[in-house]
Amino acid sequence: MDQSNHRVLITGGAGFLGSHLTKRMLEQGYSVIVLDDLSTGSLKNLAECKDNENFTFMEHDIIDPIDLDVDWIFNFACPASPVHYQKDPVRTTKTSVLGALNMLELAKKHGARIMQASTSEVYGDPLEHPQTEQYRGHVNPIGIRACYDEGKRCAESLFFDYHRMHNVDIKVIRIFNTYGPNMDVNDGRVVSNFIIQALQNEPLTVYGDGTQTRSFCYVDDLINGIIAMMQSDKEITGPINLGNCDEFTVLDLVKHVKSFTDSSSVISFKPLPEDDPTQRCPDITQAKSLLGWEPKVDLKHGLEQTVEYFAKELE
Ligand code: NAD
Ligand code: UDP
Repeated sequence: MDQSNHRVLITGGAGFLGSHLTKRMLEQGYSVIVLDDLSTGSLKNLAECKDNENFTFMEHDIIDPIDLDVDWIFNFACPASPVHYQKDPVRTTKTSVLGALNMLELAKKHGARIMQASTSEVYGDPLEHPQTEQYRGHVNPIGIRACYDEGKRCAESLFFDYHRMHNVDIKVIRIFNTYGPNMDVNDGRVVSNFIIQALQNEPLTVYGDGTQTRSFCYVDDLINGIIAMMQSDKEITGPINLGNCDEFTVLDLVKHVKSFTDSSSVISFKPLPEDDPTQRCPDITQAKSLLGWEPKVDLKHGLEQTVEYFAKELE
Protein backbone atom coordinates (compact mmCIF):
# COMPACT_ATOMS: atom_id res chain seq x y z
CA MET A 1 0.00 0.00 0.00
CA ASP A 2 1.35 3.49 -0.85
CA GLN A 3 1.46 5.37 2.44
CA SER A 4 3.97 8.02 1.32
CA ASN A 5 1.28 10.74 1.28
CA HIS A 6 0.68 10.01 4.95
CA ARG A 7 3.04 12.32 6.86
CA VAL A 8 4.19 11.09 10.22
CA LEU A 9 6.02 13.28 12.74
CA ILE A 10 8.11 11.51 15.39
CA THR A 11 9.51 13.69 18.16
CA GLY A 12 12.46 12.06 19.89
CA GLY A 13 12.98 9.91 16.79
CA ALA A 14 16.75 9.76 17.24
CA GLY A 15 16.38 8.10 20.65
CA PHE A 16 16.05 4.44 21.59
CA LEU A 17 12.32 3.89 20.99
CA GLY A 18 11.91 6.68 18.42
CA SER A 19 14.57 5.23 16.12
CA HIS A 20 12.90 1.79 16.05
CA LEU A 21 9.54 3.43 15.39
CA THR A 22 11.01 5.57 12.58
CA LYS A 23 12.48 2.51 10.87
CA ARG A 24 9.21 0.60 11.16
CA MET A 25 7.13 3.52 9.79
CA LEU A 26 9.50 3.90 6.82
CA GLU A 27 9.33 0.14 6.17
CA GLN A 28 5.55 0.45 6.02
CA GLY A 29 5.93 3.21 3.40
CA TYR A 30 4.99 6.27 5.49
CA SER A 31 6.76 9.64 5.09
CA VAL A 32 8.54 10.40 8.34
CA ILE A 33 9.83 13.65 9.81
CA VAL A 34 11.96 13.25 12.93
CA LEU A 35 12.26 16.22 15.30
CA ASP A 36 15.00 15.77 17.88
CA ASP A 37 17.41 18.02 19.77
CA LEU A 38 19.93 15.14 20.02
CA SER A 39 20.25 15.64 23.79
CA THR A 40 20.08 11.90 24.58
CA GLY A 41 19.53 10.50 21.08
CA SER A 42 21.96 10.16 18.21
CA LEU A 43 21.90 10.32 14.41
CA LYS A 44 23.80 7.03 14.51
CA ASN A 45 20.48 5.37 15.44
CA LEU A 46 18.99 6.67 12.17
CA ALA A 47 21.93 5.82 9.88
CA GLU A 48 19.83 3.24 7.97
CA CYS A 49 17.08 5.81 7.35
CA LYS A 50 19.04 8.79 6.12
CA ASP A 51 19.03 7.84 2.42
CA ASN A 52 15.32 6.98 2.34
CA GLU A 53 13.50 9.57 0.20
CA ASN A 54 10.57 9.51 2.63
CA PHE A 55 12.75 10.52 5.60
CA THR A 56 13.50 14.02 6.92
CA PHE A 57 15.47 14.93 10.03
CA MET A 58 15.10 18.32 11.74
CA GLU A 59 17.18 19.29 14.75
CA HIS A 60 14.62 21.03 16.95
CA ASP A 61 13.82 21.47 20.64
CA ILE A 62 10.12 20.72 21.21
CA ILE A 63 10.04 23.25 24.05
CA ASP A 64 9.87 25.78 21.17
CA PRO A 65 6.76 25.86 18.96
CA ILE A 66 6.97 24.66 15.35
CA ASP A 67 4.48 24.43 12.48
CA LEU A 68 4.44 21.33 10.27
CA ASP A 69 1.50 19.99 8.30
CA VAL A 70 1.34 16.33 9.29
CA ASP A 71 -1.27 13.55 9.66
CA TRP A 72 0.11 11.65 12.65
CA ILE A 73 2.29 12.79 15.55
CA PHE A 74 4.13 10.42 17.88
CA ASN A 75 5.31 12.56 20.82
CA PHE A 76 8.31 10.63 22.14
CA ALA A 77 10.80 13.43 22.88
CA CYS A 78 11.83 13.33 26.54
CA PRO A 79 14.83 11.94 28.41
CA ALA A 80 13.65 8.61 29.83
CA SER A 81 16.47 7.33 31.99
CA PRO A 82 16.49 8.59 35.63
CA VAL A 83 20.15 9.62 35.19
CA HIS A 84 19.29 11.77 32.18
CA TYR A 85 15.98 13.22 33.32
CA GLN A 86 17.42 14.21 36.71
CA LYS A 87 20.41 16.02 35.16
CA ASP A 88 18.32 19.10 34.33
CA PRO A 89 14.94 18.46 35.99
CA VAL A 90 13.46 21.84 35.04
CA ARG A 91 14.21 21.12 31.41
CA THR A 92 12.62 17.67 31.76
CA THR A 93 9.38 19.24 33.02
CA LYS A 94 9.49 21.82 30.22
CA THR A 95 10.01 19.11 27.62
CA SER A 96 7.12 17.05 28.98
CA VAL A 97 4.67 19.89 29.48
CA LEU A 98 5.57 22.61 26.94
CA GLY A 99 6.59 19.95 24.41
CA ALA A 100 3.19 18.25 24.76
CA LEU A 101 1.42 21.62 24.51
CA ASN A 102 3.30 22.55 21.33
CA MET A 103 2.54 19.18 19.72
CA LEU A 104 -1.13 19.33 20.74
CA GLU A 105 -1.43 22.80 19.17
CA LEU A 106 0.01 21.35 15.98
CA ALA A 107 -2.44 18.42 16.07
CA LYS A 108 -5.33 20.83 16.65
CA LYS A 109 -4.31 23.13 13.78
CA HIS A 110 -3.81 20.35 11.22
CA GLY A 111 -6.41 17.84 12.45
CA ALA A 112 -3.65 15.29 13.11
CA ARG A 113 -3.92 12.20 15.28
CA ILE A 114 -1.44 12.45 18.18
CA MET A 115 0.08 9.83 20.47
CA GLN A 116 1.71 10.57 23.81
CA ALA A 117 4.50 8.31 25.07
CA SER A 118 3.44 8.28 28.69
CA THR A 119 4.89 5.96 31.27
CA SER A 120 4.35 3.53 34.11
CA GLU A 121 5.97 6.28 36.21
CA VAL A 122 2.55 7.98 36.39
CA TYR A 123 1.80 5.23 38.97
CA GLY A 124 4.84 6.29 41.05
CA ASP A 125 5.79 3.76 43.74
CA PRO A 126 2.54 1.82 43.29
CA LEU A 127 0.45 0.53 46.16
CA GLU A 128 -1.67 -1.55 43.76
CA HIS A 129 -0.10 -4.51 41.96
CA PRO A 130 -0.14 -5.21 39.06
CA GLN A 131 -1.04 -1.73 37.83
CA THR A 132 -4.26 -1.26 35.89
CA GLU A 133 -5.06 1.94 33.98
CA GLN A 134 -7.68 2.77 36.63
CA TYR A 135 -5.06 3.03 39.38
CA ARG A 136 -4.36 6.71 40.05
CA GLY A 137 -0.87 6.30 41.36
CA HIS A 138 1.31 7.10 44.33
CA VAL A 139 3.73 9.81 43.20
CA ASN A 140 5.90 12.01 45.41
CA PRO A 141 5.28 15.45 43.85
CA ILE A 142 8.43 17.01 45.34
CA GLY A 143 10.97 14.20 44.98
CA ILE A 144 13.82 13.75 42.51
CA ARG A 145 11.65 11.71 40.11
CA ALA A 146 8.83 14.28 40.13
CA CYS A 147 10.16 16.27 37.15
CA TYR A 148 9.51 13.20 35.01
CA ASP A 149 6.51 11.64 36.80
CA GLU A 150 4.57 14.87 37.28
CA GLY A 151 5.68 16.17 33.85
CA LYS A 152 4.20 13.07 32.24
CA ARG A 153 1.05 13.25 34.39
CA CYS A 154 0.54 16.88 33.36
CA ALA A 155 1.07 15.92 29.72
CA GLU A 156 -1.66 13.27 30.03
CA SER A 157 -3.98 15.87 31.52
CA LEU A 158 -3.26 18.23 28.59
CA PHE A 159 -3.98 15.44 26.10
CA PHE A 160 -7.38 14.74 27.63
CA ASP A 161 -8.23 18.46 27.89
CA TYR A 162 -7.40 19.00 24.19
CA HIS A 163 -9.54 15.95 23.43
CA ARG A 164 -12.51 17.23 25.46
CA MET A 165 -12.20 20.92 24.49
CA HIS A 166 -11.02 20.69 20.87
CA ASN A 167 -11.91 17.13 19.86
CA VAL A 168 -8.24 16.37 19.13
CA ASP A 169 -7.78 12.71 18.15
CA ILE A 170 -5.53 11.42 20.95
CA LYS A 171 -3.83 8.14 21.86
CA VAL A 172 -2.13 7.84 25.25
CA ILE A 173 0.09 4.85 25.97
CA ARG A 174 1.75 4.08 29.30
CA ILE A 175 5.01 2.34 28.49
CA PHE A 176 6.59 -0.01 31.05
CA ASN A 177 10.38 -0.67 31.17
CA THR A 178 11.51 -1.46 27.63
CA TYR A 179 14.99 -2.49 26.49
CA GLY A 180 16.85 -3.48 23.34
CA PRO A 181 19.36 -2.35 20.71
CA ASN A 182 19.88 1.42 20.24
CA MET A 183 19.86 2.16 23.96
CA ASP A 184 22.72 4.55 24.54
CA VAL A 185 25.88 3.16 26.16
CA ASN A 186 25.60 5.97 28.73
CA ASP A 187 21.83 5.63 29.18
CA GLY A 188 22.08 4.49 32.81
CA ARG A 189 19.01 2.22 32.90
CA VAL A 190 19.37 -1.18 34.50
CA VAL A 191 19.39 -3.51 31.48
CA SER A 192 22.00 -1.55 29.53
CA ASN A 193 24.11 -0.90 32.65
CA PHE A 194 24.23 -4.58 33.59
CA ILE A 195 25.01 -5.79 30.06
CA ILE A 196 27.80 -3.26 29.59
CA GLN A 197 29.27 -3.99 33.03
CA ALA A 198 29.04 -7.77 32.45
CA LEU A 199 30.66 -7.58 29.01
CA GLN A 200 33.56 -5.65 30.55
CA ASN A 201 33.76 -7.96 33.59
CA GLU A 202 33.20 -4.94 35.83
CA PRO A 203 31.09 -5.05 39.02
CA LEU A 204 27.31 -5.05 38.44
CA THR A 205 25.88 -2.06 40.29
CA VAL A 206 22.77 -3.21 42.18
CA TYR A 207 20.94 -0.31 43.83
CA GLY A 208 19.50 -1.20 47.24
CA ASP A 209 19.20 -4.91 48.04
CA GLY A 210 18.02 -5.82 44.53
CA THR A 211 14.62 -7.15 45.64
CA GLN A 212 12.73 -4.38 43.83
CA THR A 213 10.94 -5.65 40.72
CA ARG A 214 10.49 -4.54 37.13
CA SER A 215 8.87 -6.16 34.09
CA PHE A 216 11.01 -5.86 30.96
CA CYS A 217 9.53 -5.57 27.48
CA TYR A 218 11.62 -6.16 24.36
CA VAL A 219 11.55 -3.21 21.97
CA ASP A 220 10.12 -5.09 18.94
CA ASP A 221 7.08 -6.13 20.98
CA LEU A 222 6.55 -2.58 22.20
CA ILE A 223 6.73 -1.12 18.69
CA ASN A 224 4.03 -3.61 17.58
CA GLY A 225 1.82 -2.34 20.41
CA ILE A 226 2.50 1.31 19.58
CA ILE A 227 1.55 0.82 15.93
CA ALA A 228 -1.55 -1.22 16.82
CA MET A 229 -2.66 1.63 19.11
CA MET A 230 -1.99 4.33 16.49
CA GLN A 231 -3.97 2.38 13.88
CA SER A 232 -6.88 1.63 16.26
CA ASP A 233 -10.36 3.21 16.09
CA LYS A 234 -10.71 6.86 17.09
CA GLU A 235 -12.74 5.95 20.20
CA ILE A 236 -9.72 4.16 21.68
CA THR A 237 -7.93 7.06 23.36
CA GLY A 238 -6.25 5.15 26.20
CA PRO A 239 -4.55 5.56 28.54
CA ILE A 240 -3.45 2.03 27.83
CA ASN A 241 -0.62 0.05 29.44
CA LEU A 242 1.99 -1.46 27.11
CA GLY A 243 4.57 -3.73 28.68
CA ASN A 244 5.58 -7.28 29.48
CA CYS A 245 3.92 -9.01 32.45
CA ASP A 246 6.89 -11.23 33.39
CA GLU A 247 8.15 -9.69 36.61
CA PHE A 248 11.75 -10.01 37.81
CA THR A 249 13.72 -8.70 40.75
CA VAL A 250 16.87 -6.74 39.96
CA LEU A 251 18.83 -9.70 41.40
CA ASP A 252 17.03 -12.07 38.95
CA LEU A 253 18.18 -9.78 36.16
CA VAL A 254 21.76 -9.99 37.40
CA LYS A 255 21.61 -13.80 37.13
CA HIS A 256 20.19 -13.72 33.60
CA VAL A 257 22.66 -11.14 32.33
CA LYS A 258 25.61 -12.97 33.87
CA SER A 259 24.59 -16.26 32.32
CA PHE A 260 24.04 -14.82 28.81
CA THR A 261 27.33 -12.95 28.85
CA ASP A 262 29.38 -15.67 30.57
CA SER A 263 30.72 -12.90 32.76
CA SER A 264 32.91 -13.11 35.85
CA SER A 265 31.52 -9.80 37.20
CA VAL A 266 30.75 -9.59 40.91
CA ILE A 267 27.87 -7.60 42.43
CA SER A 268 28.55 -4.17 43.90
CA PHE A 269 25.66 -2.98 46.08
CA LYS A 270 25.00 0.80 45.90
CA PRO A 271 22.50 2.99 47.79
CA LEU A 272 18.91 2.82 46.56
CA PRO A 273 17.97 6.14 44.90
CA GLU A 274 15.21 8.18 46.56
CA ASP A 275 11.64 7.16 45.61
CA ASP A 276 12.80 4.16 43.58
CA PRO A 277 9.59 2.13 42.99
CA THR A 278 9.55 -1.18 44.90
CA GLN A 279 7.48 -3.11 42.39
CA ARG A 280 6.20 -2.62 38.89
CA CYS A 281 4.21 -4.87 36.58
CA PRO A 282 1.55 -3.93 34.03
CA ASP A 283 -1.96 -5.30 33.80
CA ILE A 284 -2.36 -5.48 30.00
CA THR A 285 -5.93 -6.77 29.86
CA GLN A 286 -7.00 -3.66 27.94
CA ALA A 287 -4.19 -3.89 25.37
CA LYS A 288 -5.08 -7.54 24.79
CA SER A 289 -8.79 -6.98 24.37
CA LEU A 290 -8.80 -3.62 22.53
CA LEU A 291 -5.68 -4.00 20.38
CA GLY A 292 -5.24 -7.79 20.24
CA TRP A 293 -1.67 -7.12 21.42
CA GLU A 294 0.57 -8.93 23.81
CA PRO A 295 4.37 -9.32 24.03
CA LYS A 296 5.90 -12.41 22.43
CA VAL A 297 9.63 -12.08 23.18
CA ASP A 298 10.83 -13.53 26.48
CA LEU A 299 13.71 -12.09 28.50
CA LYS A 300 16.17 -14.74 27.26
CA HIS A 301 15.62 -13.94 23.59
CA GLY A 302 15.47 -10.18 24.16
CA LEU A 303 18.66 -10.17 26.21
CA GLU A 304 20.48 -12.20 23.54
CA GLN A 305 19.70 -9.55 20.91
CA THR A 306 20.64 -6.73 23.27
CA VAL A 307 23.90 -8.35 24.40
CA GLU A 308 24.85 -8.82 20.74
CA TYR A 309 24.18 -5.12 20.09
CA PHE A 310 26.25 -3.87 23.02
CA ALA A 311 29.10 -6.29 22.29
CA LYS A 312 29.43 -4.60 18.87
CA GLU A 313 29.09 -1.10 20.37
CA LEU A 314 31.94 -1.80 22.78
CA GLU A 315 34.32 -3.21 20.11
P1 NAD B 1 15.71 8.26 24.79
O1 NAD B 1 16.38 9.17 25.76
O2 NAD B 1 16.56 7.23 24.10
O3 NAD B 1 14.99 9.11 23.66
C1 NAD B 1 14.45 10.39 23.87
C2 NAD B 1 14.72 11.24 22.62
O4 NAD B 1 14.12 12.52 22.81
C3 NAD B 1 16.21 11.48 22.37
O5 NAD B 1 16.51 11.27 21.01
C4 NAD B 1 16.42 12.94 22.77
O6 NAD B 1 17.49 13.54 22.10
C5 NAD B 1 15.06 13.54 22.45
N1 NAD B 1 14.72 14.74 23.22
C6 NAD B 1 14.77 14.91 24.56
N2 NAD B 1 14.36 16.15 24.90
C7 NAD B 1 14.02 16.78 23.73
C8 NAD B 1 13.52 18.07 23.41
N3 NAD B 1 13.27 18.99 24.35
N4 NAD B 1 13.28 18.36 22.11
C9 NAD B 1 13.53 17.44 21.13
N5 NAD B 1 14.01 16.21 21.39
C10 NAD B 1 14.26 15.89 22.67
O7 NAD B 1 14.50 7.57 25.55
P2 NAD B 1 13.48 6.42 25.08
O8 NAD B 1 13.64 5.27 26.00
O9 NAD B 1 13.57 6.21 23.62
O10 NAD B 1 12.09 7.09 25.43
C11 NAD B 1 11.27 7.68 24.44
C12 NAD B 1 9.94 8.10 25.05
O11 NAD B 1 9.26 6.97 25.60
C13 NAD B 1 10.09 9.13 26.18
O12 NAD B 1 9.05 10.07 26.09
C14 NAD B 1 9.93 8.28 27.42
O13 NAD B 1 9.42 9.02 28.50
C15 NAD B 1 8.95 7.22 26.95
N6 NAD B 1 9.08 6.00 27.76
C16 NAD B 1 10.12 5.13 27.55
C17 NAD B 1 10.22 3.98 28.33
C18 NAD B 1 11.31 2.97 28.11
O14 NAD B 1 11.37 1.98 28.86
N7 NAD B 1 12.18 3.09 27.13
C19 NAD B 1 9.29 3.75 29.34
C20 NAD B 1 8.27 4.67 29.55
C21 NAD B 1 8.16 5.79 28.73
N1 UDP C 1 19.11 -0.19 38.96
C1 UDP C 1 20.18 -0.90 39.49
N2 UDP C 1 21.41 -0.71 38.95
C2 UDP C 1 21.64 0.11 37.89
C3 UDP C 1 20.55 0.83 37.34
C4 UDP C 1 19.30 0.66 37.92
O1 UDP C 1 20.01 -1.68 40.44
O2 UDP C 1 22.81 0.19 37.45
C5 UDP C 1 17.77 -0.41 39.52
C6 UDP C 1 17.01 0.87 39.88
O3 UDP C 1 17.32 1.28 41.19
C7 UDP C 1 15.56 0.41 39.71
C8 UDP C 1 15.62 -0.65 38.60
O4 UDP C 1 16.99 -1.05 38.53
O5 UDP C 1 15.12 -0.22 40.89
C9 UDP C 1 15.20 -0.09 37.24
O6 UDP C 1 15.92 1.11 37.01
P1 UDP C 1 15.89 1.90 35.64
O7 UDP C 1 16.74 3.11 35.80
O8 UDP C 1 16.22 0.98 34.52
O9 UDP C 1 14.37 2.30 35.40
P2 UDP C 1 13.18 2.81 36.35
O10 UDP C 1 12.17 1.74 36.26
O11 UDP C 1 13.68 2.96 37.77
O12 UDP C 1 12.78 4.11 35.77
